[in-house]
This record gives sequence, C-alpha cells and structure tokens, in this order.
Amino acid sequence: MSHVPAPDRYASMRYNRCGTSGLLLPAVSLGLWLNFGGDAPSKASRLMIRRAFDLGITHFDLANNYGPPPGSAERNFGRVLREDLAAHRPEMVISTKAGYLMWGGPYGEWGSRKHVLTSLDQSLRRMGLDHVDIFYHHRPDPQTPLHETMGALDAAVRRGKALYVGISNYKPAEAKQAIALLRSMGTPCLIHQPSYSMLNRWVEDGLLELLREEGVGCIAFSPLAKGLLTDRYLEGIPADSRAAGPSPFLKAEDITDTLRSRLRELNAIARERGQSLAQMSLAWLLRDGRVTSVLVGASRAGQVEDCVGTLANLAFSPDELGRIEAVLARKD
Ligand code: NDP
Repeated sequence: MSHVPAPDRYASMRYNRCGTSGLLLPAVSLGLWLNFGGDAPSKASRLMIRRAFDLGITHFDLANNYGPPPGSAERNFGRVLREDLAAHRPEMVISTKAGYLMWGGPYGEWGSRKHVLTSLDQSLRRMGLDHVDIFYHHRPDPQTPLHETMGALDAAVRRGKALYVGISNYKPAEAKQAIALLRSMGTPCLIHQPSYSMLNRWVEDGLLELLREEGVGCIAFSPLAKGLLTDRYLEGIPADSRAAGPSPFLKAEDITDTLRSRLRELNAIARERGQSLAQMSLAWLLRDGRVTSVLVGASRAGQVEDCVGTLANLAFSPDELGRIEAVLARKD
C-alpha cells in the first residue's frame, strides 16, 4: 500500500517560520482530532493523510486522547505512516499532547510530571515512533506547579522523545510564565496552540501580541469554527456533517437563523474574492503573519484540497476587511 507522494508537493505550499525558531511549518496543517479514530484507519482518513502530504502539508497534529476512542487516532496515524509513507518520516512534523483525561485514577490527566511523561511514552508506542517533533501541554493545570509541568516538557526534549515543546489553551498571563520557565530551562517554547477563528477572537486580547514579543509561533485550532465557517451549513444541516453527528462539540442548535444569515453574508464576500467561505476564513487568519499555521480538521480529502487552495489569495483590501468586520460585529 506504500504511497508514492506527488513529486511537486513542495511547489505551492507556503512554509512560515515558527516564531524565531529554525522550524518552518506549512501555512495549512492537518489535525486528527475527529474523523481519524476507530479500530483501523478508514479509507477516507487514509486518503486525507496522503492527499495532505501530496499538497505539501508536512505537519500532522495529534493528541493522546484523539479518536474516538481515545488513543485510536494515534494508533491509526502510526499505521498509515508505516504502511503508506514510511520513507517520508523525516519530511514530517508530527505533534502530540498530554493533559486531558486519558486514563483512570489520579495520574490520567492534567499536568503532573507523572501524567505528562507517562502519556508521551504511550503516545510514542501507539504511533510506533521514537520521538515526536512537537510535544504540547494540552491545557493549563491550576493545581500543579507550572515549574513541574514545564520541567516535564523540558525532560521530554532532553530524553530525545520530542524535538520541540509547546503549550495549548494557555491564557496570556499563564503563557508568559510558561514561556519564561521553559526559556530558563534551556528548552524554548516553540509554539502556542489556541483556538482562533473569525467567530472566536479571544487571542486578539493580548495573546497574539505576547507571542510576537516572545518569538513564539501560533497555530490556530478550529480555524473554521468546527465547520461553521464553511459552506456546510448555509442551507441546512447535512446528514454527514459534524453538527448532525454525535459530537458534543458542535450541535445543530448552535446553528441559529441569525448565525446562518451572517455566514451567508460572509459567503457572499468570499465568492466576490473567488474563494469558498472556508478559504476566506483561513486567509483572514493568515493575512498578516501573526498566525504561523491554521490547523484544520476535515472529513474528506476534497476539504483538505479546498483548504490548501486558500493560499492562492491571502490579501484583503481595506474595504473587504471592513465589510467582514461589520458582519462579525453585528449584534442582531
Ligand atoms: P475546523 O474548524 O477546521 O473544522 C473542521 C471541520 O470543518 C471539518 O471536520 C469539516 O466538517 C469542515 N471543513 C473543513 N474544511 C472544509 C472545507 N474546505 N469545506 C467545507 N467544510 C470543511 O477544525 P477542528 O475543530 O476539526 O479542529 C482542527 C484541529 O485542531 C483538530 O484536529 C486538532 O488537531 C486541533 N484542536 C486542538 C484543540 C486543543 O485543545 N489544542 C481542540 C480542538 C481541536 P464536517 O466534518 O462536518 O465535514
């Protein structure tokens, strides 16, 4: 089943420097949170990974708990890597995370050294890797001293189990402390992974500025607001969409008439730009260099292709930006 990747895969992808580090990340990265779980890799998930790699997506983002069931996305990704792309591991940046609930008892989640390093060992075993490229602490732990959690990330690098480390879901003040601690340990924080989209702009209140000042990269998760900022829900709720499924993370009732009319207006602006709504939403995040990479999810290879197509037009006129702001700011 070995896959021969497209020879021109690096021609049209854009690679952005991650903060002030030496690492370049593709402007579009692929996340395996949902749609990659189960007993074995589905045909669609295998195709998405191959297609992504063919389009120059070198960065694949995982976490211990991705599935469902938890752990299965890592297991399946490891299998596709071995069976389809084994020769290409050096061309890939693979990340994983620890911090959310993974097993029972007092060590199965949060930020203790015990949880973080045990979880990383499990992730490596599931993927069949000897190291990941980026290892994240997935969410801040209010009970564990930050020094201990950051010390565990530092140890992961010193033991050769991760090349770089990052943090996710940390607010600006917590991030500032974590970045300072990691720097003092000699393992700089490579990257922060926050949620960020046109519909979720909390990072604009200090976090983006902090990351720029500190030379830390930013990879935006759920950049399409879990599928809302696409053409999926403009007319209804397709039976094969996330909102129609069992996922508690996007529910049909979240898609109100008000939201839908706003999405339609954004879609009209996107069409004028010659883009899909997904493409305009990603371009908007990438437009000024504050975001290193957008971390998209997908349920089929065509969506990955559409997302990568974003890179054909990242520029916005002041008029377009103003019209988008007006739609987003409306309170009705
Ligand atoms: P998105 O906001 O990118 O939503 C993805 C969904 O949007 C897809 O499943 C699909 O919906 C739809 N979609 C994607 N591309 C298109 C397209 N071109 N046209 C139409 N519809 C499209 O991100 P996710 O919420 O999936 O998160 C992405 C990644 O971010 C995760 O896989 C994970 O790696 C990371 N993440 C990190 C978290 C953290 O705490 N650090 C938390 C959550 C995510 P459908 O399935 O309905 O077809």
